[in-house]
Amino acid sequence: PAATPAESTTDSPSAADGRRASEVTREAARRRTFAVISHPDAGKSTLTEALALHAQVITEAGAVHGKAGRRSTVSDWMEMEKARGISITSAALQFAYGEHVINLVDTPGHSDFSEDTYRVLSAVDAAVMLIDAAKGLEPQTLKLFRVCKARGIPVITVINKWDRPGLDALTLLEEIENQIELQPTPLTWPVGIAGDFRGVLERRTGEYIAYTRTAGGATRAPEERMGADAAAAREGEAWTAAVEEAELLSSDGSDHDQELFLSGFTTPVLFASAISNFGVAALLETLVELAPSPPAFGWGEEDETGRHLQVREVAAPFSAFVFKVQAGMDTNHRDRVAFARVCSGVFERGMVATHAQTGRPFATKYAQALFGRERAVLDQAYPGDIIGLVNANALTVGDTIFLDEPVSFPPIATFAPEHFAVASSKDAGRFKQFRRGMEQLDSEGVVQVLRSDLRGNQMPVLAAVGPMQFEVAEARMESEFGAPIRLERLSYTQARRTDAASAPALEAIRGLEVLSRADGTLMVLAPDAWRISVVERDHPDLVLETLLAGG
Ligand code: GDP
Repeated sequence: PAATPAESTTDSPSAADGRRASEVTREAARRRTFAVISHPDAGKSTLTEALALHAQVITEAGAVHGKAGRRSTVSDWMEMEKARGISITSAALQFAYGEHVINLVDTPGHSDFSEDTYRVLSAVDAAVMLIDAAKGLEPQTLKLFRVCKARGIPVITVINKWDRPGLDALTLLEEIENQIELQPTPLTWPVGIAGDFRGVLERRTGEYIAYTRTAGGATRAPEERMGADAAAAREGEAWTAAVEEAELLSSDGSDHDQELFLSGFTTPVLFASAISNFGVAALLETLVELAPSPPAFGWGEEDETGRHLQVREVAAPFSAFVFKVQAGMDTNHRDRVAFARVCSGVFERGMVATHAQTGRPFATKYAQALFGRERAVLDQAYPGDIIGLVNANALTVGDTIFLDEPVSFPPIATFAPEHFAVASSKDAGRFKQFRRGMEQLDSEGVVQVLRSDLRGNQMPVLAAVGPMQFEVAEARMESEFGAPIRLERLSYTQARRTDAASAPALEAIRGLEVLSRADGTLMVLAPDAWRISVVERDHPDLVLETLLAGG
């Protein structure tokens, strides 16, 4: 609650600061910010809707992407998105759950958008790994998991579609343990095999939660909870088998350990049927109880105790970093929105923050809580919350904005591009539009735009993690900037980072090309990994830094 006028006049400034700091700490502590990582079709949209159903939705945005017959709130800023039935834009859904505030940050589902997804994952404190019980770990899940691992994000696993025939529960656990070296610690254990879902045994209490099917998952599934005796009487053999397996898990060291979970060694596992809302309440409880609240943001070098030397405490004055920039999300508002995660302090709409990269003031008059077609004005946000800043033409991915105490967060690592193409304007008379579009797409990270003196400004090289990024670039250059482009694919498959000292020598090597990004980063392109390894062997003095692997 806001301070009454009487209070604020009698307060010393430091007392007011102290009160504000404890308010921010309290607000941060009740927040959980996470993303769902999954392979397309595992049930992410279904789960998102089910989560929102269980909670009281505060703001509802494009996090749930439209599929035939279901609610569609996503922005339709691009025809392609609709045509392919996938969600390219990222959005966040915020809802209250009891005393807590949950921020679910959407991740693009298509594998070609892993770079985008990586950035989204830089804005969350935990991830829910959603697995289709019939398919187990799939390529996209693995890829995203690696990003979580690299960033040290704790992962909660949900095995979905247990109502349908699928793999054996123990087999699924083994797969997780062997393929991603994460020890699964099931919190619930299924009663009945996949396809014959009776309910789950809650390992912590030994109680049974019976599964009740609801028609089309339209309403909250009634959860019938009972003790072991009642469960045994009701489910017979299936219950006994589940109890035995659960005991086996305990003797195997598969019990939850909070510290091991937070440090990325174990993953709590839940069994669910998102379509009938079963297991969804358990997931919310797990998020609230086990997932971390927004921590102090630390980076850079660490001291001997492993603590980062640079830290922004949550109660420090406002700061946020931009993890995504998007233009033309809505045909009615063709503007540029920067999505930022609040790291510290309280964000108040209208405040004038400082843009760390330029030192210029940044007015936040048009901050929005939600993204997509329906826009709502956001008045306040706390650490862990995602804010959408409209008309943010000066902001680029990785940028920091702050109030009072200066801070500049480190840049977000980028994936190694594996696809390259030369872009040129189809219409020479529209070069100005061409250049502006290229700059925009580059700053949004739709594609990376690389240049060299050799190729000139007219023919930059576009670099992408997946080829679909090229299609997005082509479509947007035409529809948004009125500058249709021609793309000519290059046969490079590898990119490494280098420095100015190594560049001339690398350029002289046959088959390699050195180009620069807008921020000055020098990139070496090579046809294949073999060529890179030959160069590394023959010229160990040259800098060839590996970028984060996308594939
Ligand atoms: P996404 O691509 O990960 O967002 O997946 P969707 O949420 O669109 O789900 C893909 C398909 O799986 C849809 O046909 C859903 O109805 C179905 N589905 C999702 N969850 C479940 C579930 O728990 N059980 C069953 N049987 N089907 C599910």
